[in-house]
Amino acid sequence: MTIIESRVDSEIDILTLQLQQLIRVPSVSAKKQSTVMECAKLVSEIMIKSGIKSEILTFDDNSEQIPPIVYGEVRSKSNPNGKTILFYNHYDVQPPEPIELWDDDPFSGKIDGNFIFGRGASDDKGELITRIKAVEYFLKEVGDVPCNVKFIVEGEEEIGSSHLQEYLTKYRKKFHCDAVIWEFGYIDEHERPIISLGMKGLLCVELNVKCANADLHSSLAVLVENPAWRIVHALKTIRDENGTILIKNWHNDIRDFLPEELDCIKQEDFDISDFKKNYELTKIFNENDIEKIKKASVGGVTSNISGLLSGYIDEGSKTVLPSTAMAKLDFRLVPNMIPQKQFQLLREHLYKNGFKDIELKFLSGEPACRIPVDNEFVKLVESCAIEEYGKVVKSISSAGTGPMWYFNKILQCPCVSIGCTYKYSRIHSPNEFARIDLIKRTTNCIGNIIEKFGDSKK
Ligand SMILES: [Zn+2]
Repeated sequence: MTIIESRVDSEIDILTLQLQQLIRVPSVSAKKQSTVMECAKLVSEIMIKSGIKSEILTFDDNSEQIPPIVYGEVRSKSNPNGKTILFYNHYDVQPPEPIELWDDDPFSGKIDGNFIFGRGASDDKGELITRIKAVEYFLKEVGDVPCNVKFIVEGEEEIGSSHLQEYLTKYRKKFHCDAVIWEFGYIDEHERPIISLGMKGLLCVELNVKCANADLHSSLAVLVENPAWRIVHALKTIRDENGTILIKNWHNDIRDFLPEELDCIKQEDFDISDFKKNYELTKIFNENDIEKIKKASVGGVTSNISGLLSGYIDEGSKTVLPSTAMAKLDFRLVPNMIPQKQFQLLREHLYKNGFKDIELKFLSGEPACRIPVDNEFVKLVESCAIEEYGKVVKSISSAGTGPMWYFNKILQCPCVSIGCTYKYSRIHSPNEFARIDLIKRTTNCIGNIIEKFGDSKK
């Protein structure tokens, strides 16, 4: 099927213009702006215009602070007892800062040839529009959808999907489905879509240490321990210089790759020089071992310092011995690792290494998820992607984290990532963009998936 080619030019423009409309509403969930709600309403309006029944689901009546879920549904008239596909997306975006590094207003939605710019252009408004337009095609051209379709569009993805688990539990019946198309998917530099079958888990923690009741004169460093040094010493025990985590039993629950997973890893490619060039890096871990790099990216654990704070950081010098120091860390986890259990191991590690004085706080945790390579839905998505793009890369897991585990466990169905996000489209960075050609091709691909899913037996 060729959804886009079969439509007149003016209709193609509607897709881009609706995406522009979405980008122009700054739905930065981190800032709790009123425009987040405005964006939810706009998504719902666009769905309704496309023929999708839509409603806004709130967390509970008293919590206006919690962004709602925009729900969409179309029941197939010809196949009402057939399968149901669910599209999971999000309408919130990352903060645009640093704004001075943008060439235009971050929420301009400026169209320049094949590119549309703005925060959310790819992540995730561009992806969302491909799903809506694919469903709209069937409704407008055929008057029916081949399978039942549902949409969950949340507003807190960029701040850790804080209430998604509760939403999924509360509306479990309403959201019932047979398979989920995940909110994003990359297209690599060879124009191949990457089908991803999983997400890593995440544990976020905060370390705090206080050595005195106030900042002291730094001459007292002969007597008083500096909290910044304390944190540095503690951090140094957590990971070595090659990135290996040194916490006892940290890796115990990690299972080996399955043979079919190893096959996928083998087929993936990773261009080291291209990667280094794109981010202007001078070196990366395991630079001379491509297999190790590929395995790490889909199944490696990390310990990352995401923030360090202590002392005087303004212009010039200040001879001060700060009273406090703080560090924020995130740990990527892989299947079978339980965030709370890993947190306990970290606590024991600090304790045993003499850092009882460091206060350790659990900020958030999310388990990893990986869908089996031989799952029928995976095969269906793969064949549709090949039909549209001629080639495909199957990745057993994204290097990032998302709430896939909750969908998999609560709705009990497979989740597969496929999308239109060009690998270097600067998501979360200044001058984020989306390629309009990829948006259209992915719309076709999603259309193919809906059609084939309708044909598949329940
Ligand atoms: Zn994002």
